[in-house]
Amino acid sequence: KKMGCNEIRKSFTDFFESKGHYIGKSSSLIPKNDKSLLLINSGMAPLKNYFSGVEVPPKNRMSTVQKCIRTGDIENVGKTARHGTFFEMMGNFSFGDYFKEDAIKWAWEFVTKHLEIPEDKIWATVYLNDDEAHDLWLKYSSIPEERIVRLGKDDNFWEIGLGPCGPCSELYYDRGEQYGCDNPDCKPGCDCDRYLEFWNLVFTQFDRQEDGSYPELAHKNIDTGMGLERIGCIMQDVDNIFEVDTIRAIIDEIERVSGVKYGVDAKSDVSIRIITDHIRAMSFMIADGILPSNEGRGYVLRRLLRRAARHGKLLGIKEDYLYNLFDVVKEVSGEAYPELVEKEGYIKKVIKIEEEKFNETIDQGSEILNGYIEELKANNESTLAGEKVFKLYDTYGFPMDLTQEILEEVGFDLDEEGFNTEMDKQRERARSARGNMEGESWKEDPLSTLDSSVASTFCGYKHLSTTGVV
Ligand code: ATP
Ligand code: MG
Ligand code: MG
Ligand code: MG
Repeated sequence: KKMGCNEIRKSFTDFFESKGHYIGKSSSLIPKNDKSLLLINSGMAPLKNYFSGVEVPPKNRMSTVQKCIRTGDIENVGKTARHGTFFEMMGNFSFGDYFKEDAIKWAWEFVTKHLEIPEDKIWATVYLNDDEAHDLWLKYSSIPEERIVRLGKDDNFWEIGLGPCGPCSELYYDRGEQYGCDNPDCKPGCDCDRYLEFWNLVFTQFDRQEDGSYPELAHKNIDTGMGLERIGCIMQDVDNIFEVDTIRAIIDEIERVSGVKYGVDAKSDVSIRIITDHIRAMSFMIADGILPSNEGRGYVLRRLLRRAARHGKLLGIKEDYLYNLFDVVKEVSGEAYPELVEKEGYIKKVIKIEEEKFNETIDQGSEILNGYIEELKANNESTLAGEKVFKLYDTYGFPMDLTQEILEEVGFDLDEEGFNTEMDKQRERARSARGNMEGESWKEDPLSTLDSSVASTFCGYKHLSTTGVV
């Protein structure tokens, strides 16, 4: 069945509403009262207090579509078919209410009856000894025994330290041999993109103790997550998550401003996909109140923006272009996320200022870096020293990963440890300059991370209000 991503999102929450769920709004990408996480990376992350019982949920069954950022996936973006740094996770949750049986039954019903995914293409995975989940798939779905794969702890057991944890069960879609790899044993769990994982069901049923035992929880929870872009990719029968209707509109615009056709050259395709992802990520981050800076979330934003700006240059785009690209993001996602519309002017301005600042320094920085590369060649060395990487970062605004990416393209490497040592030294200097105000917490708060060096060059932000009234 052909459905647009905006339709799929709606049909998901409609379905779970019909099963008695409270439909919650996406939380901000900035975690609230949660120091363990820099950015919200799953549907359950903002609901932790409901799971732990610290707060009472509006209802003991709930469903959301949550904005997520996973910086850990950044290296994969544009290269695998399935990873973005930004994506939307659709989830249904039970706080001590229904458990495995309903979760499995409804997942199957939604995917096959509402989305009409062909049943014979679907595989399931379960945790090694989770016979209960295994038997429930046999009972409620048409998936035959041979297409239920048992996977180990790495893939199919959810656990963070002590406390609530449990086995997972995932749904995969077989995209066919043309997406396969050389592994003769290629099946769900293989890292290639033939079997595309699209839904993860977590059955939080144990309570891990200090002594390593796993007693059953009194109130068992359900936490599921399905990537909207991934299910869109499957339903729209496109090559990767960047080609679904909503993101494809961004590709079209990049083609227009760069004059580079998508689907002709593998290398520019990667650049184009990276840009589509990063412009989405930065738009949503800024909408949630994050500003570019050299610390924490602000640094993530800065990295994404500069990386996108640089890939624009690789495509031959000369002028600032990212802030205009935001228009398409707003166009395709503004209805589901009104903050994009409300803060339009503000978001574009933040992007534009940062892009301009980057452009001023990048040419200078590139020249310095090229000089370093020549030196490496002349000295027959392959690793750029940490101090030099830091100088590029500190003086010319090159995030480390950008330097790394450029070096890798010409077959060189950098000294990450050395760079981190220099970073620590700088943090120490900044901290003593600030008189060690409030310990570590300043690092985490994105609005307090506009450190003095950034604030002085970035007068622009001082005139911006987060409410979008510029
Ligand atoms: P993968 O193994 O493909 O990296 P995952 O097991 O890390 O995925 P989960 O943590 O189980 O993913 O997240 C639940 C769902 O969210 C996934 O089944 C997928 O549909 C979606 N998802 C996870 N990471 C990404 C990403 N980087 N980009 C887009 N969708 C994602
Ligand atoms: Mg992953
Ligand atoms: Mg996985
Ligand atoms: Mg998973």
